Amino acid sequence: MSHAATTSSHDGRASNPLVGLRFYIDSLGCAKNLVDSEATLGILLSAGLERSATPEQAELLLVNTCGFLEAAREESVQRILELAQLKAYGRARLLAVLGCLVSRAPEELAEAIPEVDVWLPAGAHAELDVRLRHILAARPASPLQLATDRSGSGRAPLGAFAGFGARVLMTPSHTAYLKISEGCSNTCSFCSIPLMRGTQRSRSIESLVRESEGLAACGVRELHLVAQDLTHYGFDLPGRPDLLDLVRALAGVDGIEWLRLLYAHPSHFTPRMLQHLFETPKVVPYLDIPVQHASARILRAMRRPYTPARVRAQLHALRSRQPEITLRTTVIVGFPGETEVEFGKLLRFVEEMRFDRLGVFAYSREPGTPAFDLRGRPRRHTVARRMHELVELQLHLAGQRSAQRVGTRTRVLVDCRLDAAAMAAEAGGACARGAVAVGRSAAEALDIDGAIYLDGDVGVLEPGTFVDVEITRADVYDLRGRLLRAPSNA
Ligand code: SF4
Repeated sequence: MSHAATTSSHDGRASNPLVGLRFYIDSLGCAKNLVDSEATLGILLSAGLERSATPEQAELLLVNTCGFLEAAREESVQRILELAQLKAYGRARLLAVLGCLVSRAPEELAEAIPEVDVWLPAGAHAELDVRLRHILAARPASPLQLATDRSGSGRAPLGAFAGFGARVLMTPSHTAYLKISEGCSNTCSFCSIPLMRGTQRSRSIESLVRESEGLAACGVRELHLVAQDLTHYGFDLPGRPDLLDLVRALAGVDGIEWLRLLYAHPSHFTPRMLQHLFETPKVVPYLDIPVQHASARILRAMRRPYTPARVRAQLHALRSRQPEITLRTTVIVGFPGETEVEFGKLLRFVEEMRFDRLGVFAYSREPGTPAFDLRGRPRRHTVARRMHELVELQLHLAGQRSAQRVGTRTRVLVDCRLDAAAMAAEAGGACARGAVAVGRSAAEALDIDGAIYLDGDVGVLEPGTFVDVEITRADVYDLRGRLLRAPSNA
């Protein structure tokens, strides 16, 4: 650090107390929350703050929280308390808490954890630097504006997209999440997200193309499109463009090679999308489409307006059009009133549909949701047994599907090289041991799916490049592959 710089940061601090302030940020919860954290990161750096890799070295501590389920709220509160400890005994003098947990219970939290200086609900991250400046100037902060009112009637605020054009990625630099809308206008009876994030607000195709061009210029090759309901994109925009219109526009962005679709909703997955989405250039044959259950009565009680028969027909049609498609879904076990017969329907449905990826969740009774007062929740041990049966079934099915990939050839996006340290950190089992790099094919999304561990000339396995690989070994979710050809374009 040169003297001149020191002088200027001191001068800068005199006029703007944020300049040179070292901050640390933690991002909890889902990929959509991570995008907010990345935007917050960009806003703070452009306000002159400096990022600290560890909380111990920071003067300002930030955590972007999740409030979706009981377990997520507990994790968020635990992290806030840990950072409050650091503020009490360490170098930090400011603690800011953002995100969904704040949207759920701002006053109660502020009363319970007075060590926190700034509380900002989901969608209000653009206010952060102003709030911090007020505090540092010892001026009283203006009252907290919730992104939506508690009844969930408010639309997601426009400010929810603040800083998206200048995000600082927290993902590997060649892959990124693209949040195409905020909030949700569905009314699933078990879900608190509309209460925290408001009803849906879609971003314009122009702003999404612009952001994607910016990301591509920084080396991003893969975009994971995320939203609460990807397939409801655009219903609130003039001219009602849909997801297909959007991906066709994004396919024209130079440098972006893969477009991956996460969080589709069976009700809004139209025949037009089914027919054309996966024939659009760059859209990888991968779809995450939470079905939640396979009993018509339970789906009605969940306020999921589709039938098991419709989903079955959609998925079979998708598979006949795209035999190599990877299907990911999520199901909830233990919804109030779920009988053994209805659970049996779900088990048989999962067996029939043979999903490549399956997330199994226990029903969580969420305050403020329509299902909160429903009676007849199965006992805890019954739910645990049902979850175990489903997970065991899926491990068997996924193992079979993975084994079928041995001997096949696939294109892999290299995520990182594996030195000893990285190897030690790798969770991968036998497939990882001794590999020189790790990556993903079209069948693996970032973070939520397995990975492909690579053998070959480490020199050519550059993160962010595409390589041709032969699969040589399969665990349930992780695979091993040997390099066939050096990098090429996708
Ligand atoms: S689609 Fe349903 S489960 Fe998903 S965020 Fe919206 S209300 Fe919640």
